[in-house]
Amino acid sequence: MTLSRRDFLKVGGVTCIVAGAGTALAGCSPKSDGSEKATQTGEGSEAALVGYQPVNFTDETDILIIGTGYAGLAAAMAPALAGKKIIMTEKQVQIGGDSATSCCFMFASGTELQLNAGNPTTIDQYWEANAERLTAGHDQYEWFPEWVKGKTYANTKFVDVAINDFGAKFQEPCTEEELPRMSKSVILPADGIGSGGPNILQPIASKLTELGVDVRCGLRATALIVDAENVVIGCRFEDATSGKITDIKAQSTVLATGGFADNGEMVREYLPEWANHGQLVHGCMGEGHRIAEKVGAKLSGMDSSLTRCNLMGDIPNCTTWGYWTPIVLVLPNGKRFIEEAQSHDAAQAALNAGYREWWSIFDQRAFDARAIGHSVEGNIKSHEDVYVKADTLEELAVGMDVPVDALVATFARYDELVASGEDTDFGKKAWVESLQPPYHALKLNVCRYKTSGGLVVGPNNQVLDSSDNEIPGLYAAGALTLESFASVSSCMATGYYVGETLAAL
Ligand SMILES: Cc1cc2nc3c(=O)[nH]c(=O)nc-3n(C[C@H](O)[C@H](O)[C@H](O)COP(=O)(O)OP(=O)(O)OC[C@H]3O[C@@H](n4cnc5c(N)ncnc54)[C@H](O)[C@@H]3O)c2cc1C
Repeated sequence: MTLSRRDFLKVGGVTCIVAGAGTALAGCSPKSDGSEKATQTGEGSEAALVGYQPVNFTDETDILIIGTGYAGLAAAMAPALAGKKIIMTEKQVQIGGDSATSCCFMFASGTELQLNAGNPTTIDQYWEANAERLTAGHDQYEWFPEWVKGKTYANTKFVDVAINDFGAKFQEPCTEEELPRMSKSVILPADGIGSGGPNILQPIASKLTELGVDVRCGLRATALIVDAENVVIGCRFEDATSGKITDIKAQSTVLATGGFADNGEMVREYLPEWANHGQLVHGCMGEGHRIAEKVGAKLSGMDSSLTRCNLMGDIPNCTTWGYWTPIVLVLPNGKRFIEEAQSHDAAQAALNAGYREWWSIFDQRAFDARAIGHSVEGNIKSHEDVYVKADTLEELAVGMDVPVDALVATFARYDELVASGEDTDFGKKAWVESLQPPYHALKLNVCRYKTSGGLVVGPNNQVLDSSDNEIPGLYAAGALTLESFASVSSCMATGYYVGETLAAL
């Protein structure tokens, strides 16, 4: 006897199947002795899947958001203001995910914050000037340009609403003198790089709670629940401590579970060249990718040919400082290897040069720059074991355990380039300035920290299946989705955009 999908639906008389690991082929039914067991019966044999309980909805909501990083929180903002009933779940004991540790180097245009600071570019002007670049590619989707426009405007609205309605605090935008590259588009949390947790994430979470959003930590999503027409009607969760199962019914389910950098198996499968690097994050394990795949969602951009992410140093804040202050980066051989005003790619450049670590050397100006001062102080305190301070380059080299002659020669050459006004060695354009003693140095190791491949959403922010059809009831945002690029502002924007869609339903 061959069992059809509808037969499975009938097994146990339940009207739902659980679409998740190991369950897609099994209906779920209570055993006659009352214990719970999923059964699959074939001619002449009986098999049983242990541990799969029948669907039993104990909660019902308008919107179910899974994951409480920036994408999940942003997705709740507009619907919460619109009075929708929202349940948010988080597998960890506290909210925030990777977002809570993000450097929060963010981009935006036309926000009230920027307009009030004298940057006259409105979001309409920004869109007009950049639409062609932003909508390039994806020609197969005629809706794509409109969707990108929605996401771009959502980026701006997120910042305005976060400040005006949710009490988030941003820093007065940097002047061109403070941030020679990109001062028009970069925005930061109130205390500068690395301070998004207390200034953006927590205020938004507190206000959501005040607006009645039910935030539940310690609940891990394990499988989406679909009806007979494959409409996603909720999700199954496992209590992270007790293992107790909870099924939540929802009109709309939003996956915002982050990337997969913390899942060794997935990294080996999709990004094998990253598999042997340490990693910074604890929680982004690609669970959303996997449970969405089980209801037919397609994954895109997962491998290194398409991924839009880079490797990082294990002191992430430090890799951004070169935007705001003169720094010199050297390898363990004491030599420069990259243009430091763009140190974001230093990890890959170090690997290309045959190393897995490098040093960032800076002076007092790093402590004085308001965009990074807090993070410089904080990271030195938390990384004393890899911090060296010295009055001379020779002492610095000894403290760093790099060849003294090489470091001295590197600085002599760097100062020569500074005097000439042009970095002909590495093309550094901003902060081509000599460092002054005392010198400070921090050592960084190559590690992975984010991934950008994942689900593709369609014109209504609904997840697309492998035939590019929308999966009804299922939405996604943030690092789990391809078009967020795992950039923090895009994670916020895609989340906010989903929320706008759901608020209007
Ligand atoms: C150290 C660091 C620095 C960074 N700095 C920058 C930067 O300066 N600029 C930039 O553009 N980007 C930066 N990034 C990347 C950016 O911050 C992230 O891509 C972004 O914050 C991801 O947001 P998210 O909401 O999609 O995912 P996350 O913040 O990872 O949130 C996902 C949440 O879902 C939860 N979750 C996962 N699976 C389940 C499940 N099965 N059930 C329930 N909950 C689940 C997780 O625990 C987590 O809380 C940085 C990342 C890191 C780690």
